[in-house]
Amino acid sequence: MNTPPTAVAERREAPSIGMVSLGCPKALTDSELILTRLSAEGYRTSKTFEGADLVIVNTCGFIDDAVRESLDTIGEALAENGRVIVTGCLGAKSGDAGGNLVQQMHPSVLAVTGPHATQEVMDAVHLNLPKPHDPFVDLVPQPFGIAGIKLTPRHYAYLKISEGCNHRCTFCIIPSMRGDLVSRPVGDVLAEAKALFEGGVKELLVISQDTSAYGVDVKYRTGFWDGKPVKTRMLELVRTLGEIAAPYGAWVRLHYVYPYPSVDEVIPLMASGQVLPYLDVPLQHSHPDVLKRMKRPASGEKNLERLSRWREACPELVIRSTFIAGFPGETEAEFEHLLDFVREAGIDRAGCFAYSPVAGAAANEIPGMLPEAEREARRARFMEVAEAVSIAKLRRRVGATMQVLVDSAPGLGRKGGVGRSYADAPEIDGLVRLLPPEKISKTLKVGEFTRARIVGTEGHDLVAVPV
Ligand code: SF4
Repeated sequence: MNTPPTAVAERREAPSIGMVSLGCPKALTDSELILTRLSAEGYRTSKTFEGADLVIVNTCGFIDDAVRESLDTIGEALAENGRVIVTGCLGAKSGDAGGNLVQQMHPSVLAVTGPHATQEVMDAVHLNLPKPHDPFVDLVPQPFGIAGIKLTPRHYAYLKISEGCNHRCTFCIIPSMRGDLVSRPVGDVLAEAKALFEGGVKELLVISQDTSAYGVDVKYRTGFWDGKPVKTRMLELVRTLGEIAAPYGAWVRLHYVYPYPSVDEVIPLMASGQVLPYLDVPLQHSHPDVLKRMKRPASGEKNLERLSRWREACPELVIRSTFIAGFPGETEAEFEHLLDFVREAGIDRAGCFAYSPVAGAAANEIPGMLPEAEREARRARFMEVAEAVSIAKLRRRVGATMQVLVDSAPGLGRKGGVGRSYADAPEIDGLVRLLPPEKISKTLKVGEFTRARIVGTEGHDLVAVPV
């Protein structure tokens, strides 16, 4: 059937919006939500600033570098397009003189909203670029159904289970930007997960500010999924996600999990293979006094013992964590405590920031700010220890056969490709460098799993032969 010429003309004229998404996976899911709504209303997307009728910049305001990058991007969008709506964490920040920072720096932006503000962004879009009416576009099905548009490669996706955070870590301004914890209804989260698997997602990355706190705000209310009651609580959520993922052979990976006693119950689900034996636990430090000064969640817990109990229950468990070196008042002894902890806990993947004062953070008032050179030196010392631990653990994998999810495989992978094992989250961990397959008939395909024999290591990566 030929498309009527008038419909073609209408479609060509549908207004087009450019989108830049900066910052963390949580900001990315906000962008996905906005793009889903825009697409459902018939707006087109543009890959360039010049080709767009309007540009949305989703900003990050976490550390000074991120603020700078966001402000520069807004400046670029204004210079190349002129019609810019700003959303995201930076949009919620005040400037030195009070008032809104973005509006002070870039007074010609059309509108500014904070993070997680899809409706406000849509209102600003409608005001500045009226909604098109195009029944042909309105009816185009999305590959992920109710899960909407995803900005990640088709085979993995982030699933945001809550917004905001009830903690008040002294170095962090996220609660002032994103507010207190608001958990998504468990039925909605599970329905989104199912839609993603149906659409071809093979790895689901569960994210939030504090995954272990899921449901605290709604007192672990009972919701419904597939006609059955499910509590709005991490354990029930993770168990059900594992059940939904199983028929698709897909992975479920947990991020931002704090070491609360309640997490102990999730470890058996990892040992039995229902979800990946991988935990992203942002510990930030090991010394109880530093943790107290940081006002960290679970700061009173004995983390070393807890991690070792988890490893006993699930020997395959991989722990990723992030740390801060040179926090205000950190003594050499406290820092040494941290280095010993990383060695003893055998942290598989560690990231480290040198403490950097964030405008508006309570930690700036803590006495004992270390000189920048010392903070940087501690970060470098930390990374040396953490890398040695991580590389030693990687080397133990040589000779093993692992399941690898293929991320890239030019020419059907005949010359090899790149993938990840359960131990590697996308973007933040290492990779598995795949050599040409052993059998000439074997091919590799992006988004599919392959078994691979580990034959060596290369920095933070493994080298493997698909078998
Ligand atoms: S747990 Fe702490 S670091 Fe994480 S978002 Fe909440 S306040 Fe910030």
